[in-house]
Amino acid sequence: MSLPSENKTNVNESLPQPNGLDAFDIEHGISDIETPPEVPLSGQFKKCFAYFTIRYRLPNILVSLLNSIREDLKVNPSNYEEADISFVLESIEKLKTQVENNGRLEKIASKAPDVDIWNNFIANLPENASFFNICWLYAECYLYRRIYSLFEATNTMAQYDYFGPQKMKALQMSDHVMEELIQTTDNCENTCETFCHMLKLNLWGNKCDLSLSSGKDVKPLENLSQLIVSLNTNILVDDSAAIWNCLNQQPAQQQQVADTKYVDLICDNAGFELFTDLLFGQYLLQNALAKVVRYHVKAMPWFVSDTTAQDIHKTLKYLDGHKSHVLRDFGKRCSKYFEEGAFQIAEESYFWTTPYEFYRMSEINPKLYKDLSTSSLLVFKGDLNYRKLLGDFNWNFSDDFRKCLRGFNPTRLCTLRTIKGDLLCGLKPESVKCPDLARQLSLGKNDWMFTGNYAVIQLLL
Ligand SMILES: [Mg+2]
Repeated sequence: MSLPSENKTNVNESLPQPNGLDAFDIEHGISDIETPPEVPLSGQFKKCFAYFTIRYRLPNILVSLLNSIREDLKVNPSNYEEADISFVLESIEKLKTQVENNGRLEKIASKAPDVDIWNNFIANLPENASFFNICWLYAECYLYRRIYSLFEATNTMAQYDYFGPQKMKALQMSDHVMEELIQTTDNCENTCETFCHMLKLNLWGNKCDLSLSSGKDVKPLENLSQLIVSLNTNILVDDSAAIWNCLNQQPAQQQQVADTKYVDLICDNAGFELFTDLLFGQYLLQNALAKVVRYHVKAMPWFVSDTTAQDIHKTLKYLDGHKSHVLRDFGKRCSKYFEEGAFQIAEESYFWTTPYEFYRMSEINPKLYKDLSTSSLLVFKGDLNYRKLLGDFNWNFSDDFRKCLRGFNPTRLCTLRTIKGDLLCGLKPESVKCPDLARQLSLGKNDWMFTGNYAVIQLLL
């Protein structure tokens, strides 16, 4: 079943049908094949989403960024120096050319605390490492880190959130749906059924992703509350009831030392999804499933719509000052949770904006690993977190979630992910209930993996 009604993120409509190799592919050693089993996803394989992303989506994201900056500075005159504005616009153009020409990865110039981590990482890649020949995860993270370093290099624009206008627009487009959800979920009791409903609202909030749409507007699903049940066949692995059970049980042994029951959300997108993160957090507090909900956000603008601390403040301010009393009351309640410490923005960590897979966290950032281990449950939101959990590796779809995490298990963790890239694990034959998908799988097609119309909720105890 496809989603009943909404603006589909029609990646596939613009997906050029691979028709052999073109001159660019031949020059850069691209193969006209799917990603072979058990190798990292990369732009080397023309039938991998990584290729499509690096060849078309990333340059488009840079074009959208250029347009958005020009538009924002026109509408909101600022104190930025002219020379800085020209520098960032020209540098983004150059970066686009570098991606389009399969340029090599250069060292990062930065004063931020992550610069050594990044440059050591780059130094350890093969000497000819370039956008198309390294693991997709590394190439895409590198691009976003380079964008940030361009702004960092200016006198006046280092704090400018260049994706901010796109994120704010996405939030403003969601007013109606946010109102509906606040009203339909008010004072839900702690039952397995209501928990699964709230979790799934949070899951489908992840469909709104400005990185997947190359910065174009994405509206949330209308009537989402009513659609949740009909969307169940689109959830290919659904551990939501087990997640509820685990939150209602005694904490795992390692958390017994902590006297507070934490639930940690490792956030994905701002806008509508962040709103659903706050709504889910409120449900956890109201039903004593958490004493504190910690939100882990990005330390810099990331993958277009990813949440930063600034986005949380802006979202609260937007809701607090809204003309709708429903949104205003919700905003004030959330602000109060933050003031009282029941909601917290987790200590800033640059680990989330490194290219590292999560199985390397304990070695690269042992403090973060230890902090996470005090939680009752970690909720990893979205596609990029999923890619980092699995390491952008072409696992067999039937491989066990635990195996694919390669030892990453600071505590109980789950993932809420709408599928936007061609990697997946934990799929069982009986999980494919929708005939459309079964047919595509039998034909060996993977276009369904680029739409965000299918999803997984996976738990690791
Ligand atoms: Mg994102």
